[in-house]
Amino acid sequence: MPIQSIRLFGDPVLTTPALEVSVFDKELRTLVSDLTETMHDAPGAGLAAPQIGVSLRVFVWDVDDNLGHLINPTLDLSSDMQDGEEGCLSFPGLLYETPRAMRAVAKGFNMHGEPVTIEGSELLARCLQHETDHLDGIVFIDRLVTEERKRAMADIRNSDWFGSAIQSGLEPRIKISPHTTNGLGF
Ligand code: ZN
Repeated sequence: MPIQSIRLFGDPVLTTPALEVSVFDKELRTLVSDLTETMHDAPGAGLAAPQIGVSLRVFVWDVDDNLGHLINPTLDLSSDMQDGEEGCLSFPGLLYETPRAMRAVAKGFNMHGEPVTIEGSELLARCLQHETDHLDGIVFIDRLVTEERKRAMADIRNSDWFGSAIQSGLEPRIKISPHTTNGLGF
């Protein structure tokens, strides 16, 4: 199956919530295969379908020799948090300290439509949260603390790849934290 091109930040597909998978057919199995090959080619530790332009709730991962995929995931997160740097194949070359829950339990389906539960801590938990966010149209810079986020936006504006997104007429859509004004709107 062919390796797909990875969509970069600025592409609207990355900020659009993806649709639930309702048919577990050969096309879906091809999508999982394409995602896996594209992730390995990058190389990366995870990849969500919107990152190859397919707005469906599907992602794959390869973390600590644990290769997997999940469809229509829901997440339960621990209240204890972890620190650590995180990057994204849709933001080439950029890494930021990104707070995440330490542990995650993801429930969903495999490509044959069978229910599966994936439990992860540390890096796998981080990956499950990052990829599920992609399916909700959330990118990792939305999870940064304010100062780190400002730094990220400046880095993105100065990056070589962001120029190409602007030239193609795609403007970035930035989510602002709902807490910055202490709940007051304007
Ligand atoms: Zn990503």
